Amino acid sequence: MKHSGDDSQSVRDTLGRPVRDLRISVMDTCNYRCPYCMPADKFDENYQFLRPHERLSFDEIVMVAEAFAAHGVNKLRLTGGEPLLRKNLPELVRRLASIEGIEDIALTTNGLLLEKQLPALIEAGLQRVTISLDSLDAEQYRRLSGNRGELAVVLGAVEQAVSSSLKAVKINCVVQRGVNEDQIIPLLQRFRHTPVVVRFIEYMDVGNKNDWQPGQVLSAADILDRIQRHWPVQALKPNYRGEVAARYAYTDGAGEIGFITSISQPFCGDCSRARLSADGRVYTCLFSEHGHDVRPLLRADIPVEERRTQLQHIIADIWRQRSDRYSEKRDALRKQRDKKIEMYVIGG
Ligand code: SAM
Ligand code: SF4
Ligand code: SF4
Repeated sequence: MKHSGDDSQSVRDTLGRPVRDLRISVMDTCNYRCPYCMPADKFDENYQFLRPHERLSFDEIVMVAEAFAAHGVNKLRLTGGEPLLRKNLPELVRRLASIEGIEDIALTTNGLLLEKQLPALIEAGLQRVTISLDSLDAEQYRRLSGNRGELAVVLGAVEQAVSSSLKAVKINCVVQRGVNEDQIIPLLQRFRHTPVVVRFIEYMDVGNKNDWQPGQVLSAADILDRIQRHWPVQALKPNYRGEVAARYAYTDGAGEIGFITSISQPFCGDCSRARLSADGRVYTCLFSEHGHDVRPLLRADIPVEERRTQLQHIIADIWRQRSDRYSEKRDALRKQRDKKIEMYVIGG
């Protein structure tokens, strides 16, 4: 049997890129209000999130994941909004893990609700977890979560994840100049000599609600420079083509660090990621203005086999037509695109 990641079987976009990685937003709402993602003044109690019937059911999510797997996707990541707000998530993980060709299932979460759910998620087939953590200062952490987060609870979840059977535990820290740049060294200090990989993400101009300005970005080179003043590190080779993070290791063997350099060193050339929103739109770029709505087909009154076949064709067409490389053309495109999809809709 051919493996789904086999190149001969994969569909390619207009720039020759295959599709390998599907990020599934299972929930559009969130228990946090991080100012760079869901600022509390814009996402207040009157904000109209999706109604339950507007979100894809597990059957529908699985059908989309199967269609992508048939075209070469072997990695899935569950995200949101906050994915742990979705009821019965382990059931979805179990079903996704049994799709032919899927080799890896990961979760990105703010971690607040992780502790209780982690054992069932692992038992269902979850292999990796990324926990977002922008500060180790309890007060600052709370502020950066829109006054909703509990640092101690999230750190407890990180500990639990480390001592579990997960293959990998990562921390995502979005660095904003003048906001949490003082947290770079404390975060590394805390997780050196542990299996946890801290990844610093350049603050990105995703969506239109966070009033992003270039001056708020601290580049990976600047971050690296600060790290080198404390501990020498050396670059590592990517684990595989299309890996998002640039990897470094401490030369004293204390572990690994990652950088996501969407602003300073775009990596569109190898981008093999597709994204599915909670209401069934397929996005081929984090900075897209429009998604392809596959929900009408998923709910069409036709036999399930026909739906499955049509969906596979549509997914292949969407990918074949893809030409996105926003980050490489950011300077030219940024002012033109004023209706970019928001981060909480597609989950990073
Ligand atoms: N709620 C979950 C969480 O926070 O981990 C999953 C969804 S969240 C949108 C996914 C990731 O996107 C988080 O690590 C978050 O810090 C990151 N993120 C959100 N807005 C961002 C931005 N403007 N630039 C860079 N990263 C961002
Ligand atoms: Fe919620 Fe994650 Fe966005 Fe923060 S970054 S508001 S935790 S979805
Ligand atoms: Fe991929 Fe779009 Fe990001 Fe480029 S800007 S790496 S095409 S998601």
